[in-house]
Amino acid sequence: MSEPSLGRINQKSQTFTCPSCGGRMIFDPESQQLKCPYCDRLKPFHVEKRTPNEYDIRYAPPVSDSAWGDETHTVRCNGCGAEIILTGETTADMCPFCGAPHVLADQSKSGIAPESLISFRITKHTAVQAFRKWLSKKLFAPSKAKKMAALGQITGLYLPHWTYDARSTSHYTGRAGHYYYVTVERVVTGPDGKKHTEKVQEQRIRWEPASGVVSNSFDDILVVGSERLAPRMLSSVQPYHLSELVQYAPEFISGFCCEKPAIDVMKGWEKAQKTIDAEMARLAERDILRHADVAEVNHISTENEDVRYKLLLLPMYLSSFKYKDSVYQVLVNGQTGKTNGQSPVSPWRVLVAVLIGLLILGGLYYLFMSENLTETELYDLNQYLEVSGVLHFLRA
Ligand SMILES: [Zn+2]
Ligand SMILES: [Zn+2]
Repeated sequence: MSEPSLGRINQKSQTFTCPSCGGRMIFDPESQQLKCPYCDRLKPFHVEKRTPNEYDIRYAPPVSDSAWGDETHTVRCNGCGAEIILTGETTADMCPFCGAPHVLADQSKSGIAPESLISFRITKHTAVQAFRKWLSKKLFAPSKAKKMAALGQITGLYLPHWTYDARSTSHYTGRAGHYYYVTVERVVTGPDGKKHTEKVQEQRIRWEPASGVVSNSFDDILVVGSERLAPRMLSSVQPYHLSELVQYAPEFISGFCCEKPAIDVMKGWEKAQKTIDAEMARLAERDILRHADVAEVNHISTENEDVRYKLLLLPMYLSSFKYKDSVYQVLVNGQTGKTNGQSPVSPWRVLVAVLIGLLILGGLYYLFMSENLTETELYDLNQYLEVSGVLHFLRA
């Protein structure tokens, strides 16, 4: 059966079929097993406990699509261009990134398969609660937007991340500065208003050329493979506890979806090199400082050897809603539950808050003027203003 608009796949896999009722089992964050959504039967699955493979970047990409598990298929959003990998009978009626309703089956392959992942620990139910709680605290969001947001779907999505290892060696040139002191005479004005000269010590720097070699091994430099989430928002729901990484198995993504990396392995490597370059420059500076008081690195050239990479999947709940032609996203970390997002601000609500604040201030001013307050009462009022959070309220 082909239903191009939803990319539905009809065949059922033996692995995911419920032994009791024949329903399709999906990954259950609570038990960390497969669970049948129809009869609640649980089924554990085997996860290999070995260190994840890392691949030589010179031969990328070495892993075939089939390593995802043979049931994955890719859909593409017409709105924002996101490519999403779905498993089995999971379909996408709506793009999790932009909320667009048109998600088309894509003929492109799923690409490099992930080596390991952090499984979902937070259930969808908990994520929805975290999302609602976050929304209820948004005092300045228009109530219509809140309604739109509450109606929006929340999707459990694995976000692709690359990690890179490298052995890096840098040759640098620069200069090393050494402090020395000279005695200079200075004219100063004394407390009596009369001028006189004084001898003072002044610091100077003697520079000499410096050069050298520094090396370092990098392990698991993390680069996000998604471009559809603002980096600042993404980092606001981090960190992930990478100690909980497990070997990839298709069971983990049953019932969830994955974003296909928008940043490929080589583009990700370019980003990782920026991290490497910054660290190597810091090491070169530290190298000069071992024998100097001040350091300056003017030129550095870095060679990276044994560059290896792997693809990781990290769990995220994502809700996107549209309000007045803009898309707003709310994220819930699928491992820790940390929540953050964007919401529109209603100018009316802000205005009302400002007016309330002014009324309170006006009332207090009247109090000040009409009664003769003692020093302590004035102090108390001052404290009250700060504690009552008039300012905090306006900032929220
Ligand atoms: Zn069942
Ligand atoms: Zn989209």
